[in-house]
Amino acid sequence: MQVLKFGGTSVASAENIEKVIAIVGQALAQGPVVLVVSALGGTTDALIGAGRAAAAGDEAFRITLRQLEARHLTAAEALLPTPAAQAELQPWLTAQFTELALLADGIFALGELSPRTLDRLMSYGELLSSRLVVAAFQARGLAAAWADSRQLLRTNSRFGMAQVEEVVTEQQVRAFQLATPSNLWVAPGFIAADAEGHTTTLGRGGSDYTAAILAAALGAEKLEIWTDVSGMLTADPRLVRAARPIAHISYEEAMELSHFGAKVLYAPTVQPVRQRGIPMWIKNTFAPQDFGTLVEVAPPPTPNVVRGLSSIGNLALLNLEGSGMVGVPGFSARLFAALARARINVVLITQSSSEHSICVGVNEADVPAAQGVVNEEFAGEISAGRLEPLRPETGLAIVALVGENMKNHPGISGRLFSALGHNGVNIRAIAQGASERNISTVIRASDVRKAINVLHEEFFEATSKQVNLFILGPGNVGGKLLAQLAQQQAYLREKLSLDLRVMAIANSRHSLVSEEGGLDLRTWPEDLNEAPKLTLEEFTQLIISKNLRNSIFVDVTANPAAADQYAPLLAKSVAIVACNKVAASAAYASYRHLKQLAQDFNTKYLFETNVGAALPVIGTLGDLTRSGDVVRRMQAVLSGTLNFVFNNYDGSRPFAEVVRQAQAEGYTEPDPRLDLNGSDVARKILILAREAGQQLEMNDVANESFLPPSCLEGDVPAFYEQLAVHEPHFRALYEAAASEGKRLKFVAQYTDGQAAVGLQQIPPGHDLYDLRGKDNVVLFYTDRYTDQPLVVKGAGAGAEVTASGVFADIIRAARL
Ligand code: ADP
Ligand code: ASP
Ligand code: MG
Repeated sequence: MQVLKFGGTSVASAENIEKVIAIVGQALAQGPVVLVVSALGGTTDALIGAGRAAAAGDEAFRITLRQLEARHLTAAEALLPTPAAQAELQPWLTAQFTELALLADGIFALGELSPRTLDRLMSYGELLSSRLVVAAFQARGLAAAWADSRQLLRTNSRFGMAQVEEVVTEQQVRAFQLATPSNLWVAPGFIAADAEGHTTTLGRGGSDYTAAILAAALGAEKLEIWTDVSGMLTADPRLVRAARPIAHISYEEAMELSHFGAKVLYAPTVQPVRQRGIPMWIKNTFAPQDFGTLVEVAPPPTPNVVRGLSSIGNLALLNLEGSGMVGVPGFSARLFAALARARINVVLITQSSSEHSICVGVNEADVPAAQGVVNEEFAGEISAGRLEPLRPETGLAIVALVGENMKNHPGISGRLFSALGHNGVNIRAIAQGASERNISTVIRASDVRKAINVLHEEFFEATSKQVNLFILGPGNVGGKLLAQLAQQQAYLREKLSLDLRVMAIANSRHSLVSEEGGLDLRTWPEDLNEAPKLTLEEFTQLIISKNLRNSIFVDVTANPAAADQYAPLLAKSVAIVACNKVAASAAYASYRHLKQLAQDFNTKYLFETNVGAALPVIGTLGDLTRSGDVVRRMQAVLSGTLNFVFNNYDGSRPFAEVVRQAQAEGYTEPDPRLDLNGSDVARKILILAREAGQQLEMNDVANESFLPPSCLEGDVPAFYEQLAVHEPHFRALYEAAASEGKRLKFVAQYTDGQAAVGLQQIPPGHDLYDLRGKDNVVLFYTDRYTDQPLVVKGAGAGAEVTASGVFADIIRAARL
């Protein structure tokens, strides 16, 4: 005997039922079959909807019933080839819908839908589907016998979630078997009857359970649960795209996964077949050739320690705490007894070792009742101040790791915590069963999708890590960055197992956002121009609300308002990669705050390109200080513009003309005075001093301008006029240096806590003497580099290299 159960999708239409018939046909070749069917997909929901509408006085229930009738008649017509066969079933179907309409009219008239009536109403779904399937078999010449599950399964009278009485059930099944010898029985799932003969149901999704009970009662050689996925998967495929079938699983693991939310199997199903050691398959009606999942006593070992992940939503935590609990026996017993009296199911329990508090997880819908009974039970203690009134916390969910082997592998919880921690998922409570087959964490419901994907990646996809980028400012540098990303995507996936996806690109006019999967990096410029505008705050909210794992905000602007977004993002564990210097050179307190946030929220705030473009300046400084070295002195040339100007000015052309050329060639800011007055260089040395450990403000950086004061008054044209007026001043500066064989360099300097910027005469042979083009150089004098400095030198400007520096920070933030 084999028991095969087909779910709602498998029997949703005539076309699908044909597949069922084919699968059952093959099974019959191996022996007799008991076939259990669900209602046509969606029918149970529709019946409940109709019942509720009727009870609420809403006539819409009639439309629902008519649609259901039409759907069943259409299926019958398609399944039954001859008018004769149709003529037999159709009147029966019509009669059923007449009964249903009468029942619904009664509900409508009374304005009341009791659990008992609801069970009656819902039972029509499986009654109709099973009869339809019997007729379809008979029409194909197969003698199928209809078995009324209400006469087979005996339950108590807990309507909606009735409990099976095993002994009577088994007797009834055996008696039926003797009375009805047939190779093929077809039984409706989900429904049963109590001792008075009232129809009951086994709980939503209960057809799986019907099949397991029949399999156990008949001592079947196997149970097959046919559904719309190829087995039990490593996670809910609606949440995790990369979920994949689990080929072999133990009964205990399957039970644990289904108890913790894996909808594919109704949780009570496992117990009856486990007791009898009946192997259970989960198979896909739409891909019968797929292996599926075999649930068995001793599945073969696999390298995967975690077998699957699951989640349950609508959870609330109830916290009972107070000094009155410490050392007093019997508190938990009273708490659980009170909850049990109110029929409240406890999903999870944790107690701190101080015994100062006990915390249980229950369904959110049970919170009001729980509050009532618990506060009543402990009224005395509460009024005496020895206990706090029960404190419920809602909007939570459980995410559970399930695997028999977890107990033999240390470090699983560590990986769980660190993966969730890096993604800003706060864990409210944790429970690990004594079996160590399950580690459950309670988190915010809104974090479930992210958490379960993060964990899936951690435990099942060691091969690839998804990183989600939000790019602000696709201008010169940003544009180059996007081009580099597009070019490297495949390489990173293959070589570093990093799946970099650009989820949004925004500038001041448009924000292009990917719904899923990442933007197309070939067409983004056109797509962006069509996209609507988001304010910076809206963009930040978008990043936060998407709540994607491994999110990075990439700021390729020079916009002070963009820097204001870092703190709220870091506080959500979104990493920041900034080319923008504003934040790191703002008030010390706010720079420090951002660094601290990054640390507190387990994320990164990286800004290597703030100094010397892609040159490893900040990274080197960090390596030195982290390894215990002390930076005593830094000397640096850090401005592309000033380099260009002083490399090219030798008095043969006016100074103003050289500055104009620098501007024309794109070295300067739009307002060249920002470069010439040294403020940009001052910011950079300020950032370096801070990274070396000094608490400095911008005002502390001495800036001896080489510009006569009049050059800094007025607008840009006036500035050029003033440069021309002061040509003798610039020439004198140049000649004073040249006469001694020296060169002029605009140098940033840091010595024992003091920072300064200004023009210096550099003698030949000095490390700063020979600088060309866009070169930047930084000399580090440290406790380890005393006589000869550590020198970092190379191109320190240009969109392409700056973009590559941002790119490198992105990879660092992706935590490789
Ligand atoms: P049926 O109607 O066949 O009983 P269900 O809808 O009850 O089917 O269960 C199958 C569905 O369960 C799948 O389509 C899938 O969306 C969902 N599901 C949730 N978690 C899992 C999981 N871990 N493995 C497989 N399916 C899952
Ligand atoms: N039809 C019922 C439900 O939708 C039972 C089942 O499909 O297993 O809950
Ligand atoms: Mg189901």
